Amino acid sequence: MAELAAYKSEIKPDWCPGCGDYGVLSSLQKACADLDIPNHNLMCVSGIGCSSNFPGFFNSYGLHTLHGRGLAVAQGVKLANPDLTVVGMGGDGDGYGIGCGHFMHALRRNINMTYFVMNNQIYGLTTGQTSPTTDLDVKTKSTPHGNQEYPFNPVAIAIAGGCTFVARGFSGEPMHLAELFKQAIQHQGFSLIDCFSPCVTYNKINTFPWFKQMIYKIEETGHDPKNFDAAMKLALQKDKLPIGVLYKNPRTTYDAAEPALVDFGAPVKQDLTWKDPEILLEFL
Ligand code: SF4
Repeated sequence: MAELAAYKSEIKPDWCPGCGDYGVLSSLQKACADLDIPNHNLMCVSGIGCSSNFPGFFNSYGLHTLHGRGLAVAQGVKLANPDLTVVGMGGDGDGYGIGCGHFMHALRRNINMTYFVMNNQIYGLTTGQTSPTTDLDVKTKSTPHGNQEYPFNPVAIAIAGGCTFVARGFSGEPMHLAELFKQAIQHQGFSLIDCFSPCVTYNKINTFPWFKQMIYKIEETGHDPKNFDAAMKLALQKDKLPIGVLYKNPRTTYDAAEPALVDFGAPVKQDLTWKDPEILLEFL
């Protein structure tokens, strides 16, 4: 088993003291250490936002892409080189707002990778505007009279949208979250973890103490993750917030079924040395 320290980069996180993203970072580092994933076989891909600075703080290959586009790039990386363990990440604004189109199609496409969202129910980097997961009537910098848009429920939408592994974690429960990361990475198919990761600077409602009162662990209830109806019921629960694996129902992955990949193998392993450069000019 590798040491957790092997996954810490030389760059120290620049998040505010107490930000929930620290717990998510250490949880993924622990999961990778427990799974003994070689650093050179791991690729972290993010979008834009406080949480999307994540790849810089993680000792692996990394890509810090454009706002809402991290998931599209991460899927491309996995298709190009299936030998990599690909983990995509970002915030709720990045993944469920501007990146929502990519999110919806990644659910049904089922490429073998993990995506997690550090969900703080606010835009943190831009200093506190309403995000897709902000609750109704919450006052923010962009909705001073209260948010009137019904909040996006990522886990319910993921279950309905064909995602084969749907989990919810909390950065205040880092050991529990690390176990979720391990299961998600080992899952054959697209896995989503929605991580409650409080913004201590701009969200004074959904705080660590608030989540501590609201959460309970799914695995202590006898829930069967293969049961679609039961999973959806958990996803829609509002008086309490279940954390753990809500839904798990593997099916053939896109990468295992796409004819070109099956017939010719990984693009990064193609022998292009025989190609006449003149042929490539035909594509211009
Ligand atoms: Fe974290 Fe919020 Fe600070 Fe951003 S603004 S680093 S989300 S606490």
